[in-house]
Amino acid sequence: MKPAQFEYHAPANVVEACSLLASLEDAKVLAGGQSLVPLLNFRLARPAHLVDINRISGLDRIYERDGGVAVQALARQAAVEDSELVARACPLLRDAVRLVAHRVIRNRGTLCGSIAHADPASELPAVLLALGGHVVARSARGRRTIGADELFSGVFETSLAPDELVEETWFPAVSGEHAILEESRRHGDFALAGVVRAGDRLALFGVAGTPVMAERGDPTRGLQPSGDLEATAEFRLHLVRVLTEQAFAA
Ligand SMILES: Cc1cc2nc3c(=O)[nH]c(=O)nc-3n(C[C@H](O)[C@H](O)[C@H](O)COP(=O)(O)OP(=O)(O)OC[C@H]3O[C@@H](n4cnc5c(N)ncnc54)[C@H](O)[C@@H]3O)c2cc1C
Repeated sequence: MKPAQFEYHAPANVVEACSLLASLEDAKVLAGGQSLVPLLNFRLARPAHLVDINRISGLDRIYERDGGVAVQALARQAAVEDSELVARACPLLRDAVRLVAHRVIRNRGTLCGSIAHADPASELPAVLLALGGHVVARSARGRRTIGADELFSGVFETSLAPDELVEETWFPAVSGEHAILEESRRHGDFALAGVVRAGDRLALFGVAGTPVMAERGDPTRGLQPSGDLEATAEFRLHLVRVLTEQAFAA
């Protein structure tokens, strides 16, 4: 299928992008397009306006900030995967990015896009939650910081306002033991269930409407995952128990 009609905008800088998002009714940011374009093609999303941020220069940095790593809106997942800074300061993030789809998708897909998209089976939101990171949201009204524990509000839903752009995502440096483990049907597929360990902290993905924090001793407490053609709810709970054990075994 082809997308429903929309008006296309290509701002040259962040200020212009924010003023478009503030003034247009029913606008969506287009970053790597790896999630949004399929949604448009299937007409599962029908925004009236697309604000393509790809022509904004100087928005693709990965840099050290406040003892952690900041990843700007146009930094591709492949660049995060290849970053020496990420490998040194936050190897958990590099390990997580390697589990996202395939390299060809990571060449276009952005880390911030994955966070804003908030797919419950996605690895990167769970890493942000496990590490206690945040996003910097920018709009015509200014900037605000949103912690991961306040960001993910539902299936594909965040607390970002429609006129806010994720300008960058910040991950604290990882010191100590860490792991990200998941089970999927094929390499590169979305996870049936996954766990992220950062020291004593544990976050789960693929088993609730958002990534969730859990306790090592009883990781499935309170969870009611849905079952589908890929996996039953019971199998997902089983995976959480096994993967948690493995994550702490090392
Ligand atoms: C075959 C396939 C397999 C995949 N497998 C996985 C997987 O295993 N794990 C996984 O996590 N992902 C997977 N993905 C998704 C992929 O990682 C996407 O790149 C990512 O989810 C979205 O990033 P993007 O830059 O492409 O965003 P886009 O597709 O451009 O946008 C996605 C959404 O986020 C919004 N958005 C994007 N950037 C911003 C911003 N800076 N500020 C505010 N809103 C923004 C858009 O408006 C849109 O609603 C897969 C995709 C494909 C096609």
